[in-house]
Amino acid sequence: MSASNFTKTKIIATVGPAISDKANLRALIEVGVDVFRLNFSHGSHEAHKKVIDTIHSLNKELETSVAILADLQGPKIRVGKIENKDGSGKIALKKGDKVFFTTKENVKKKNYYYISYQDIAKDIDISHRVLVDDGKLELKVISTNTVDEVELEVMNDAFISSNKGVNLPDTEISIPSLTEKDSKDLEFIFTQEVHWIALSFVRSAKDMIKLRGLSEFKNHPAKLVAKIEKPEALNEIDEIIAESDAIMVARGDLGVEIPVEKTPLAQKMIVRKCIECAKPVIIATQMMESMITNPVPTRAEVSDVGNAVFDGADAVMLSGETAVGKYPVKVVKTMHSIIRQLENEESIYRRAGKLNKKSDKFLSDAICNTVCSLAHQIKAKAIIGMTKSGYTAFTVSSKRPNANIFVFTENIALLNQASLIWGVRAFYYNKFSSTDQTIADVQAILKKKGYIKVGDVVINTGSMPIAERGPTNTIKVSTIR
Ligand code: PEP
Repeated sequence: MSASNFTKTKIIATVGPAISDKANLRALIEVGVDVFRLNFSHGSHEAHKKVIDTIHSLNKELETSVAILADLQGPKIRVGKIENKDGSGKIALKKGDKVFFTTKENVKKKNYYYISYQDIAKDIDISHRVLVDDGKLELKVISTNTVDEVELEVMNDAFISSNKGVNLPDTEISIPSLTEKDSKDLEFIFTQEVHWIALSFVRSAKDMIKLRGLSEFKNHPAKLVAKIEKPEALNEIDEIIAESDAIMVARGDLGVEIPVEKTPLAQKMIVRKCIECAKPVIIATQMMESMITNPVPTRAEVSDVGNAVFDGADAVMLSGETAVGKYPVKVVKTMHSIIRQLENEESIYRRAGKLNKKSDKFLSDAICNTVCSLAHQIKAKAIIGMTKSGYTAFTVSSKRPNANIFVFTENIALLNQASLIWGVRAFYYNKFSSTDQTIADVQAILKKKGYIKVGDVVINTGSMPIAERGPTNTIKVSTIR
């Protein structure tokens, strides 16, 4: 993506067979992908490793900092392989049919289907709903033997197909948030240079604390994303945001786990809270779904992406559209142009938010707030910060200034992590001789790369004295010469 054509709202593309080779990954970076998501629900470690290595080599070749987000499957429940005469792996069920879910594998009885949730018969209750394939098939529990078998009534005509996901919106699920598969996947992920790790079906802040403990134990620098797709997570949303580095509104499962009509308000509530807490927020699933098979999006999809940008989401995510779709490059281009259009609209930008006087970061927060108000007043083209932890990047971004945000850091992991943060681009810098020299250097780097030009008004933030690498305490305004 050229220096004059990037968007503030970031684009995440899920990798799948449609784009996993080098030529396609390159093409997607060139049209505006900021983050690639590897979905650990599918694919071998070997296949993921190949994609990770390819993205790293493209980052070197193209001088980009595209991030890698490893998305753990979490306690996803699935039906087993469905064997039928025509080999299609699907069976038509009729309203009123009686079927059984069993946790025993290879039960070859008519109307018996394997389910991967070992304690379902113990945890579920009569009249609980069971939703299969994003709710396309609804069943209701008639009885349970409380050991390994549940009897259900089919509530609508629909197919049951191999390996489809199952949601139990009325049942308190006892599967741990990090499954055995997640632990094996994490063992692999911790050996790789990935920048973000997402945990699916987070139910409580404790789930994130556990993942954080594991990643700290391995000394892995990845930042952590909580995927919000369970009603329990909505009840504990403040605590989950506090324990996470970013949040994903995973609308696919969320829209099955809670009444679908409640998802728009849940989405808006999460976006608002994340911006207030300076935590990046991703809107995921079905954003451009029709482009899996069509070359143009529906008007409703364009509005959905536009609304996410308007609300201030840090990133919008593509799933099947890029993983298995027919038009992966076109869908990213289309998403990019929708974002560009919205970002021309002055009203999407905000200014200084509320400050927490009790925060130990109060002074730095006040500087970031002031910088964004000042940028608005003087129509600055860029806010340029120096950061080690990334705090300035997250905080300035959360004020959603119209000026582009560039951060310079010696923190290698942050270079790619910043690709998920609204408006932020990060660059490597490790010379800290004097404040004047550093400001001159970073401005020269941005000018050379084409991000700023002669006559632009820019704001630099930093810390004085520079050698102490303390929190941000300094603001300088200059006109580029
Ligand atoms: C979702 O449910 O919206 C989602 C992103 O989860 P996944 O694609 O991992 O099932």
